[in-house]
This record gives sequence, C-alpha cells and structure tokens, in this order.
Amino acid sequence: MSKMYEGVKTWNPFKGCWFDCTYCKPTFQRQAKRQKHNCMLCYNFVPHLHRDRLTKIPNAETIFVCGNGDIAFCETNYIDEIVASTYLRKKSIFYWQSKSPKALRDVCGLLRHYNTEESNHIMLTTLETNRDKDYHLISKAPVPTDRSYDFMRLPWPRKIVTIEPIMDFDHDEFLKMILDIKPEAVYVGYNSMPGAVKLPEPSHDKAFSLITCLKENGIKVKTKYLPWEEMIPV
Ligand code: SF4
Repeated sequence: MSKMYEGVKTWNPFKGCWFDCTYCKPTFQRQAKRQKHNCMLCYNFVPHLHRDRLTKIPNAETIFVCGNGDIAFCETNYIDEIVASTYLRKKSIFYWQSKSPKALRDVCGLLRHYNTEESNHIMLTTLETNRDKDYHLISKAPVPTDRSYDFMRLPWPRKIVTIEPIMDFDHDEFLKMILDIKPEAVYVGYNSMPGAVKLPEPSHDKAFSLITCLKENGIKVKTKYLPWEEMIPV
C-alpha cells in the first residue's frame, strides 16, 4: 500500500470488472491470479459477489469498498446490501469508486435511503486524462469527458478524483474538468508498471504544473510514483 492510501483497507464483498483497462492486467488482475485455489471467478477477474464478506468489514480509519473491481458490474440489489452493511463501521470513512459514475448514483440514493451520515462516505472516480481520442485502446470504461460530466453531476457533497495512472493531457482543459467537479482532493500517480504496460505519459513539468494549479485552487493533492515529489509546494 502506498503512502497515498495510508490508513486505507480494502473491503471486497464484490470483485471483478469487465472494463479491461490495459494497466489493470499487471496490477489488480495479476494479484487476482493468487486466488487460483480459492475462487476461479477471482482468478479470472469476473464480476461476482462474495456474500460471506458482507459483514467482515476491516477495522480501519478508511475503507475502500470493492477496490478490486468496479461496482458498475454489481447488481443494484446487492449494492443495497453492501450499503446497508456499512452501519457496522459507523466511525469509518468509506471510499466508493467507479469508472462509471452513473453506478455511484445508486450508492448515493441508497446511502440517503438508509439515512447514513453523508460525511462518512466519499465518491471517487479515476480520470487519467481529459482526452477521449484513442481512449478505447486503454479501457472499455466511459470516455473521460462522459465520465467527468457524470461525476460532476453526481449529487454528493464529498468527492475525490484519482489521476492514476496519469496519461498525457491538455493542461487547461484537464484543469477545468477537475475544478468543475469540485473535488476535496486529487490523487496523482504515474504508471507503476512501466516495464509491463506503456502509456502516453505527460512530461514531469506538465504534471508538476497541473498539481501546482490544483493546489493553488485549494485542492488537497496526494501523490505517488513521482520522482520529483519532494519539489511539490505544500
Ligand atoms: S476499471 Fe479498475 S478494476 Fe476495472 S479493469 Fe480498470 S483498473 Fe481494473
């Protein structure tokens, strides 16, 4: 676990994903291969439920819900059960992340239905870039402009954007895209497996400038895999 996710534990009552991001294969999907003798659906990263884990929520300050998959592929009835189970950790902060923010609408609706403390739940999405062109070569998830628009419109007070792995972008457009979402924090990281997967990456100067602008706009920025991390103004 990197510093960026310090104090965060993953809770996986649902696992797997069909968005097929190229950078997932050497990371999450490779980790899933360790489950060969326990669960072939985990091994193959097929979206599926682990109902036995529903009440086994880690005792952590922050809990990443279904971090080894995407709840866009989870049935609404089961999302209901996952949301209902969070009452077992009333003092924890829950991170709900999807590359399809429309799926997070169900989560927000259910959290309100159960009268959950809104400040304990944060919605997250990944935006690796602002560029839609050729994005289909990277992932089957909704393209960045659609994803950012849906996330901006998500009716929830607490949001975080993860720019990880960062891909080349257009500075002003990407900055505006993120600021329009009004996230309380942005997490930025370069490709952690450059030997296994090649991505079109921005120069360090360009990424540095984006991070500086985000901070100047009052957004908390957390980083990992940045060789010049110590140079970023606090
Ligand atoms: S959306 Fe997440 S879990 Fe799904 S393939 Fe991409 S990186 Fe993997």
